[in-house]
Amino acid sequence: MIRLFCLLLLVSGLIACDSHPTPHREQFLVFGTVVEITIADAPKSKASAAIREIEQDFQQMHDQWHAWRAGGRLAEVNAAFARGETITVDPRLTELFSTATDYSVKSDHLFNPAISQLINLWGFHGADPATWTPPSDEAIQALLAKHPRMTDIQIRGAELSCANPAVKLDFGAVAKGYAVDLALQKLKQSGIRDAIVNAGGNLRVIGENHGRAWRVGIRHPNGKDVLAAVSVTDGEGVFTSGGYERYHEYQGKRYAHIIDPRTGYPVDQTVSITVIYPNGAIADAASTALAVAGQAEWQRIARQMGIRYVLLMDATGTVYMNPEMADRVEFTVNPPPPVVIQPLEPA
Ligand code: ADP
Ligand code: MG
Repeated sequence: MIRLFCLLLLVSGLIACDSHPTPHREQFLVFGTVVEITIADAPKSKASAAIREIEQDFQQMHDQWHAWRAGGRLAEVNAAFARGETITVDPRLTELFSTATDYSVKSDHLFNPAISQLINLWGFHGADPATWTPPSDEAIQALLAKHPRMTDIQIRGAELSCANPAVKLDFGAVAKGYAVDLALQKLKQSGIRDAIVNAGGNLRVIGENHGRAWRVGIRHPNGKDVLAAVSVTDGEGVFTSGGYERYHEYQGKRYAHIIDPRTGYPVDQTVSITVIYPNGAIADAASTALAVAGQAEWQRIARQMGIRYVLLMDATGTVYMNPEMADRVEFTVNPPPPVVIQPLEPA
């Protein structure tokens, strides 16, 4: 019975299976997903007020960082790049640009937020799923030939400019992680020490749950079950990327929303990637990069990006993990999936 209760709570990202007081929890919709904030160490009124502030912040970030919607700051940056002009941005944005560029390079550009034209071509933002068809190979190759990369962007103080007019930014793979980082900072400023901020299965924790480590669930790529549970310590993030969340279907084939920047086609061999890392923006970038890297290259790319805990599920349902991750993961599905344990490659 206790086990069943744990699992029910686990679906919402949190396992609270004992007699501790129930933490305060609220949800809201932003970034096209459900954001859930759990606070263990504040009365309801204080917790609620802090959550409302974060909701407003997230809404503002969503409006500013839309790659394809006019009016936001990122859309202005993209317009300036297309015209070959320099643009001045606030320090928050230059920080995000630097991190994104750094980790794009470390991922061998498998995480490549400069490929917004390619993502638009695949219609992952706003296309009507009922009438959607895949783009032509010609159109894909034409965009690939322009080699848009984060390293085409020059950052000088607050000024950004770009040598390649094909660079168009989409921060969809990193924005949620960055937002979760800012939310944790905000909670701490409000005097909150024990909390979880979860943006659509991408979460970070601070402190603990009434004297015990937070335990959270990793979603099964089938979208229904919880694959595994893991204990997380102060500051750690658990980030999951998967094609099951957003995809198009055409003639019985699924096209996931993560694009391999080398081929221009959606990733189809990896159905889910989970990383644990104490920074949301980096964990988010890494989860996307490792989804692209797939079973053949995840160890090398994780190593290059400094990620020490990885779980990958391939299209056959086999789970690949490094031994450090395997030590932390407790499967909650019965029977557990087939597992292959492989070390991260030496540096
Ligand atoms: P989720 O949003 O489900 O957590 P991700 O973090 O993997 O998933 O982000 C996927 C989003 O990132 C896509 O919707 C798209 O906007 C963008 N994207 C797709 N492929 C790449 C890539 N190779 N590099 C950077 N961004 C990508
Ligand atoms: Mg990501």
